[in-house]
Amino acid sequence: MAKQQFKAESKRLLEMMINSIYTQKEIFLRELISNASDAIDKIYYRALTDDQLVFDKSQYYIQVAPDKENRTLTLSDTGIGMSREDLEEHLGVIAKSGSLAFKKENEAQDGHNIIGQFGVGFYSAFMVADTVTVVSRALGSDQAYKWESTGADGYTIEPASKETVGTDIILKIKENTEDDQYDEYLDDYRLKAIIKKYSDFIRYPIKMNVTGRRPKEGSEGEFEEYAEEQTVNSMVPIWRKNKSELKPEDYENFYNEKRYGFDKPVKHIHISADGSVVYNAILFIPESTPFDYYTKEYEKGLELYSNGVLIMNKCADLLPDYFGFVKGMVDSENLSLNISREMLQHDKQLSLIAKHIASKIKSELLSLLKNDREKYEAFYKSFGRQLKFGVYNDYGMNKDTLQDLLLFSSSLEKKLVSLDEYVSRMPEDQKYIYYASGESIDRIEKLPQTELVADKGYEILYLTDDIDEFAIKMIMTYKEKEFRSVSSGDLGIEADEQDKETPAEEADNQELFDRMNGLLAGKVKKVKASKRLKTHPVCLSTEGEVTIEMEKILKAMPS
Ligand code: ADP
Ligand code: MG
Repeated sequence: MAKQQFKAESKRLLEMMINSIYTQKEIFLRELISNASDAIDKIYYRALTDDQLVFDKSQYYIQVAPDKENRTLTLSDTGIGMSREDLEEHLGVIAKSGSLAFKKENEAQDGHNIIGQFGVGFYSAFMVADTVTVVSRALGSDQAYKWESTGADGYTIEPASKETVGTDIILKIKENTEDDQYDEYLDDYRLKAIIKKYSDFIRYPIKMNVTGRRPKEGSEGEFEEYAEEQTVNSMVPIWRKNKSELKPEDYENFYNEKRYGFDKPVKHIHISADGSVVYNAILFIPESTPFDYYTKEYEKGLELYSNGVLIMNKCADLLPDYFGFVKGMVDSENLSLNISREMLQHDKQLSLIAKHIASKIKSELLSLLKNDREKYEAFYKSFGRQLKFGVYNDYGMNKDTLQDLLLFSSSLEKKLVSLDEYVSRMPEDQKYIYYASGESIDRIEKLPQTELVADKGYEILYLTDDIDEFAIKMIMTYKEKEFRSVSSGDLGIEADEQDKETPAEEADNQELFDRMNGLLAGKVKKVKASKRLKTHPVCLSTEGEVTIEMEKILKAMPS
């Protein structure tokens, strides 16, 4: 049997596509600017192999021109243009990408990388325009052509005239309706903001005539109207610049401009990876906790760019929860994007990048801990709790990654210490890493249980945060040393050994102990004489794994 071809109702298909691919209308501008940038890149590629063609960067730009009176928005580029056949094939066939074909013919070089690949972005113009008119003149031709469409009903192509090589795209912006506003796409401030958001790092200038009012120079209280051509985008992204060219202020400005936070970050991390994974990233460790950090409302994530074009504002997959405080961006060329370019397919490349980033953050935090203790402690004050949760969560899967980043208060000099510092100064006869938990350092120091250990000259970790002891229990041993609560039954100290036998005092006062056991029955397991008390008459101790402090927290938890 002869094979039948599928017939698509292209009118419906186009409508469906336009209204279902993109979640935000403003994306149309990103798509048209990306196409213009691709068109200029193509001349750049041609020039690499064609001696007749010189690529003089100053001649290439993209212009965005709103016209409120006529309700049009025109995007012009000085790129490679389209012939009649190109218009037919690339704008007349949905899901046919001239750029993808071009990319396959021309290998990417020195950071130039064509953006287009799906052959649908252009049609996003119909989200905001009733009529789209394309006037284009291809490189090497004197004849221009005009393509015009109202979306659903197909298109027309006819000869036209155009002075220079390149493409003008004229959008007749829709009228406002009750539900949808379109006027904003004629407003130069709004347009400028959209360009900044998605296309700031397009490598050719995006020019706009911007009008406004500003204080008049040299006179007080007077204003003047102005109209000037501005280049809206910053073009060279800071992450593509050489680290040696950049000063700490440049990173700080970037942090502020991006509104990652209102604080001053304690550290920036600039990564240019070109080994097994290729990406650039600029990451920041903030100093202060965002107000919603320890709530469900907080969303972790990094900005994700593909080739300098913003894809996602907060890509959560790039950060493990325990480093959820990190801010910044990642730019990579070879991501598998979904068709709207608003999301990613689950991507091996992405998980490789995420892994790489996590280990980089860890090593940078460790070096901060080692080299700038003050800054690290400032950071730890804000996010230490997060790290301890990280140790405890996921059944302790990440404890090896995180344990060296933890700090606890200690009996020694009342300072914060790391586990490594603790263990490295343990006397030889000390068996365990001791800790005591309580509401505050003050209260812990008054615990009778701490006395014996402190008297031996052993350091004690003071756990004052709810999560501390849970994290410690999860770590279990550090450098082969077990953790031991000072209120545990077995402290591994001499006096303790003696404690195991019934002291003479108890036998001598059997009646008293019987009476106390009787009175406290059901409240404590046993009242017994102990050798571990120095100046206090009595203390509480536990036998199992769960200490008194943990019991308190567990009881307070909603079940
Ligand atoms: P994609 O960019 O993913 O290829 P689009 O629907 O955005 O898909 O564009 C389809 C094709 O139309 C492009 O691949 C390109 O060949 C052509 N095209 C679109 N805009 C322009 C332009 N401004 N200049 C030259 N060619 C263009
Ligand atoms: Mg495109």
